Amino acid sequence: MSNPFENALKQLDRAAKLQTFSPNFLAQMRQSQREVQISIPVKMNDGSQKIFIGYRVEHNNACGPYKGGIRYHQETNIDEVRALAFWMAIKCAVVGIPMGGGKGGITVDPKALSEGEMESLTRGWTRGMAPILGPKKDVPAPDVNTTPREMDWIADEYYKVTSDQKYKAVVTGKTIPAGGSLGRGTATGDGGYFVFEGLREKLGIEKGSCRVVVQGFGNAGQRMAELFHQNGYKVVGLSDSRGGIYNPEGLDVAAVGVHKKATRSVQDFAGAQNISNAELLELECEVLVPAALENQLTVENAQNVKAKAIIEVANGPTTPEADEVFALRNIPVVPDVLANAGGVTVSYFEWDQNMKAEVWSEADVAVKLDETMKAALDAVWEKKVALNCTVREAAFVVALERIEKAMGV
Ligand code: NAD
Repeated sequence: MSNPFENALKQLDRAAKLQTFSPNFLAQMRQSQREVQISIPVKMNDGSQKIFIGYRVEHNNACGPYKGGIRYHQETNIDEVRALAFWMAIKCAVVGIPMGGGKGGITVDPKALSEGEMESLTRGWTRGMAPILGPKKDVPAPDVNTTPREMDWIADEYYKVTSDQKYKAVVTGKTIPAGGSLGRGTATGDGGYFVFEGLREKLGIEKGSCRVVVQGFGNAGQRMAELFHQNGYKVVGLSDSRGGIYNPEGLDVAAVGVHKKATRSVQDFAGAQNISNAELLELECEVLVPAALENQLTVENAQNVKAKAIIEVANGPTTPEADEVFALRNIPVVPDVLANAGGVTVSYFEWDQNMKAEVWSEADVAVKLDETMKAALDAVWEKKVALNCTVREAAFVVALERIEKAMGV
């Protein structure tokens, strides 16, 4: 398997071919600013001790405190965390929030741990990392297999260790009573939808004739599909891990949600035809939203995709080879670092509220998110036109430009 950090560096090299950056700046971007590895001893329920390895990689803080999730997975390793920290720096800079890039993780199978063991592990990670964490230093968030529950433990443990009065702002994605932001749970889907609206206008796709297909009916995909439906778009295809459904006249997304809750699958929905996930990606539509897994659009199916635009809500759904096919076919692909940045943007809003001891309404959060996502798309689109490059390349160039300016190198 290719090393994810090497892939990240290839993206950096590509952007550097399109626009001139200072060699010193590029050399600094090729390295993490700090990497910390700790051992976390945990007393297990059976009385034994297990030692877990935890990481925090701080890639770059030129634009603001390091920001990025913490993931719990049996395959988590330093190369993966290093690449994810780099991408967080790019993502925060693309949407123009005053945050840098970081990421953390623990090599663990969380399904094998009880709630009490998870709490000990999370508190142990926090104690070990406390010297480098802080509202103005490094602010973690949820990622794969971590939830608001873990974030509340991190804030609480950080307070115990540091007595920092601004402890709530040390981590985002908390529960609402612990200082979480309204609108955080739907932020990725909401942000993806705002990007879609901006893109549709740029491409001149008429609202009345815009058909949408969404792969993945989870946190991000279901929310986006609901917003398309509520706003009068025809959602003609939807899918989850068990397969897809299709109705050229449009699906009632709310009813599909009820059906999915009852049967745990979108398939066999009355008034729709069952299709495979492979068929779903090749449906006639104006906009395709991969919101499930990585590597779904490949050199095998890219030629058959009929969408006029793709919005990458999932992380890494398009392989580099498929990306080239879409570039040749003039199909714009709004990259993950922009399309799914709604989550980190509302994380930043949460941090801002905690720092100012404010509580914003859900409507205020939505308005600010809409403005942020549309402004980011505008800046990236302008760059794409100026450099005659892909949306992905333009997003990297915009982000690097902003980080370089903040670093002053
Ligand atoms: P989720 O687990 O809530 O949902 C994933 C959905 O994809 C589920 O409906 C699942 O059934 C479906 N799925 C799984 N395998 C599939 C397959 N082979 N074909 C079609 N559907 C399949 O996850 P999520 O939080 O919605 O995240 C989805 C993607 O968005 C991931 O790539 C994630 O990294 C990315 N993302 C999510 C967030 C967020 O805040 N939720 C933020 C940034 C990026």
